Amino acid sequence: MAIKIEKRSWAEPYRMKMVELLKMTTKAQREKALKEAGYNTFLLHAEDVYIDLLTDSGTNAMSDRQWSAFMTGDEAYAGSKSYYLMEKAIQQFYGYKYVVPTHQGRGAENLLSQIMIKKGDYVPGNMYFTTTRLHQELAGGTFVDVICDEAHDAQSEFPFKGNVDISKLDALVKKHGAKKIPYICVATNVNMAGGQPISIKNLKELREYTNKHGIKIVHDMTRVAENAFFIQQREEGYKNTSIKDIVKEICSLTDAATMSAKKDALVNIGGFMATNDWDVFEEARNLVVVYEGLHTYGGLAGRDMEAIAVGIKESVSDHHQKARVGQVEYLGKRMEEFGIPLVKPFGGHGIFVDAKAFLPHLTQDQYPAQTLAAEIYADSGVRTMERGIISAGRKANGENYYPKLELVRFTIPRRVYTQAHMDVVAESAAMVYDRRKKIKGLKMVYEPKYLRFFQARFEKLK
Ligand SMILES: *Cc1c(COP(=O)(O)O)cnc(C)c1O
Repeated sequence: MAIKIEKRSWAEPYRMKMVELLKMTTKAQREKALKEAGYNTFLLHAEDVYIDLLTDSGTNAMSDRQWSAFMTGDEAYAGSKSYYLMEKAIQQFYGYKYVVPTHQGRGAENLLSQIMIKKGDYVPGNMYFTTTRLHQELAGGTFVDVICDEAHDAQSEFPFKGNVDISKLDALVKKHGAKKIPYICVATNVNMAGGQPISIKNLKELREYTNKHGIKIVHDMTRVAENAFFIQQREEGYKNTSIKDIVKEICSLTDAATMSAKKDALVNIGGFMATNDWDVFEEARNLVVVYEGLHTYGGLAGRDMEAIAVGIKESVSDHHQKARVGQVEYLGKRMEEFGIPLVKPFGGHGIFVDAKAFLPHLTQDQYPAQTLAAEIYADSGVRTMERGIISAGRKANGENYYPKLELVRFTIPRRVYTQAHMDVVAESAAMVYDRRKKIKGLKMVYEPKYLRFFQARFEKLK
């Protein structure tokens, strides 16, 4: 009998050489841990978590090559060889001229916002990111969302939900004048939209528009290689272009960048600011001394910079991205089979469950996404996080933001979990979905002033 296989399977382009043993817990232990954590998955002890899908930030597994490079870190205070190595990797793979290391992405956002934003400025972006927007606001700017409408619609299957709606940007320019807009912040593979890509075509149109109006493009390049993978898969004319080349092309269409190396670049800590503008660089390398450290280490150890240099190279491999995004897709498909409402198309770094559709009997003030994240942890020890009204926070005048999307993020660390782990995750979400009608919401009993989602506490509604 002839063997027929519809679609050949793929597997990871690596194998395991060391494993980390996990603590297994009972449901009673998890319910106790959850109560003590105020029903906020950020406040759980990581030890009590079985499969940790809280974030893909800094949770990556480094390769043998990265660990070897780690041992060769040059810990000199000034002029470390590891800095020059990282600078060279950034110049080679991303193409930016000048590099300032920072302890992580938000350190770079702080420098860039302070240098480029004046009080009263407007800073458009393709959806907000929590730390990015806060740094823009602390520098006196006002964030304006100019992402395409499809991005706010969990049901839309538009392939480039990260695209900028240039007519929204144009309306802002007409209203306030281009002089009040120092730059537009363009994120690749927009985190808050569910890990959704921007197309090269859109980026080129944006480049043309911003050139005409003297507005810079700042690239939040945290997940640029994942974005490049989607361009390769979906955008006309890029099927045979390598991720490496697409990444370089994306960067070439922008003026400066902030990077959280804890994502794409496959390390556990680190980031940088990069720019093609000497004046911005000169100010940044002066300012970095105040907040992070000297401009040749910026809060990083030499070994961290070594690991970043190797991680950048590994991140632009076609094989790596195929397995990375392939695993996310695998989880999405399994969850879809159970009928769980998800943001589509699946993103690059995680699966986003539509909590409004999952728990339609809860109002947004009963925190459906926060509730769902808590329920999933109690069921199986799988840790996810809220991306909805709690994450959105309050406006400067104290009113809550009411985001259209109320999501639970199942974020997958790179090179850490197996397909069998993904099966356990999908089945847990399915069990909670099965008893969704009985689930009650939460009330907030403690609210911190900044980025409340990290430390807010809740109680179960009766
Ligand atoms: C994580 C992240 C940041 C901030 O980076 P940190 O390293 O966490 O400080 C900025 N932008 C995006 C899109 C991110 O995902």
